[in-house]
Amino acid sequence: MSALSADLQSAPRRHSAEALLENLPHPVLSMDREGEVLYANAAAQAVLGGWILGLRFADLFPEHLEPLGQATAGGVPLALTSKTQMRFRALFADAPDAGLLLSLFPDGGQTAVPASDTDDLSGLMKRSGMNERLDRALANDAPGVAVHCIDLDRFKIINDTLGHGIGDLLLKKVADRIRSACRKDDCVARVGGDEFVVVQTGIGGADDAARLAGRLVDLVGRTYVLSGHTINIGASVGVALGEGVVVGRDLLRNADLALYEAKRAGRNRFRSFEPGMDAALRERRELEIDLRRALALKQFELHYQPFLDLGSNAVIGFEALIRWHHPTRGLVSPADFIPLAEETGLINKIGEWVLRTACSTAATWPDDRAVAVNISPVQFRTDTLVDLIVSTLASTGLPAHRLEIEITEGALLDNTDSVLKTLHALRDLGIHISMDDFGTGYSSLSYLQKFPFHKIKIDRSFVQRAEEGGDSEAILRAIAGLGVSLGMAITAEGVETPEQLERIRSEHCTHVQGYLTGRPMPADRLSSFLYS
Ligand code: C2E
Ligand code: MG
Ligand code: MG
Repeated sequence: MSALSADLQSAPRRHSAEALLENLPHPVLSMDREGEVLYANAAAQAVLGGWILGLRFADLFPEHLEPLGQATAGGVPLALTSKTQMRFRALFADAPDAGLLLSLFPDGGQTAVPASDTDDLSGLMKRSGMNERLDRALANDAPGVAVHCIDLDRFKIINDTLGHGIGDLLLKKVADRIRSACRKDDCVARVGGDEFVVVQTGIGGADDAARLAGRLVDLVGRTYVLSGHTINIGASVGVALGEGVVVGRDLLRNADLALYEAKRAGRNRFRSFEPGMDAALRERRELEIDLRRALALKQFELHYQPFLDLGSNAVIGFEALIRWHHPTRGLVSPADFIPLAEETGLINKIGEWVLRTACSTAATWPDDRAVAVNISPVQFRTDTLVDLIVSTLASTGLPAHRLEIEITEGALLDNTDSVLKTLHALRDLGIHISMDDFGTGYSSLSYLQKFPFHKIKIDRSFVQRAEEGGDSEAILRAIAGLGVSLGMAITAEGVETPEQLERIRSEHCTHVQGYLTGRPMPADRLSSFLYS
């Protein structure tokens, strides 16, 4: 393969090498050092889509491209598995500094037969052996077969923080536990770094499969003690039943789809395949692909919604809210794509754009009104957020005290200490920090004691339901009271009627934001809104 990649670079032989690659029946991609896709032959474009050219492959399929070991002069062994309809294995990869030339083989294909059919590390069967067993089992007694795809939930973190040695030990233990949950006749295979498959045979029905899946989640999820480290990981499991299925590939795909749903539902659980999952996933994938292009195609826009100080009744700032003008779907609400952007990590790029756009817009305002920017919990998990904000303020010239950032409780759920450190750093810079949507999540009052927020924004559901009295009214009153005693400003969100405005005033809210006092609007409408 290195010879081929050299050929690609030497002009006279380029033509024939490209023609050769072009006509290969299996997908071949070449990438530069940064992983940008420079070339994809016809077969690659047919399965992945021509749009991958010029994009970073690892960004497009971050979860699916995983180095299996250290780079050597001969290349980086890569496993490329996809949770979707496609499943490939990358067989070749050139030395990283020369760029990569990947040759992707559909998994289960006849190429590159492994030297042995058990996995060195876990002693479990490899994928090829499992595929054979699965096909045989289906041919014998399809209704008696169930496939379980198992994926460890936090393995990568353990591997990265405790080292590969512990990672390997952990995989062995996991393999043992999976084995012990199964019957002797069941086939247990390790099919990827932290991915396992169980082919369960002789089941009486869906209940038997669900029981094993539950046992797998439970057993694998129990605490491990390895070389003095106490380790907690979880397992997500997707289950599919063999009834009516003829080829193993289809059953594996169904189980993979169910696994995907299990992870989406919060991990550390199992899901059984349902026919609708296929269409739902395809729909999401299409949306994801569109989302990846949206930034480049400038389909995003920010609208700004005013918030007012209830003492002076003056507009003191605007919250930046993203809008996506999709070419065929029309205007897509942030509620419909932010979660997907968070899942895929795209929110980091989008968030950067939002921050830059909001700050540079606010810097042009003739007064010193504030701009509030929503920051996703995912952005807090990067260690570059403070740098990003500092450099954005510097490049746009917006003074720090005019920027407010809004975070939700989700940001404080895990890694609380590092998030608190980030928040303190931002606060020290003079940036204002608001707790957004308060009351909808875990509403842990302890968060309010851990960090001196400047502002609490009470979710609109409380404002809107407070009229009915009962809990919502009591919660509204309690949060407002808490804000007063902690010295935090209180914004009531979603105020739509004069009656609601009266109520939040009498409950001592300090700020208001809602359709009554101003809807979100494009930047160029702000001055006519303010001065007419
Ligand atoms: P949020 O931060 O709580 O923003 C307020 C949402 O309430 C906005 O919805 C706003 O249009 C809506 N709203 C304001 N006043 C009223 C009212 O009187 N009645 C009703 N029914 N709704 C009102 P939007 O723009 O659809 O945004 C939804 C959520 O999406 C936001 O909730 C925020 O969590 C998220 N979001 C929006 N833009 C961004 C962004 O740039 N980055 C991130 N990470 N999240 C964003
Ligand atoms: Mg907000
Ligand atoms: Mg809110």
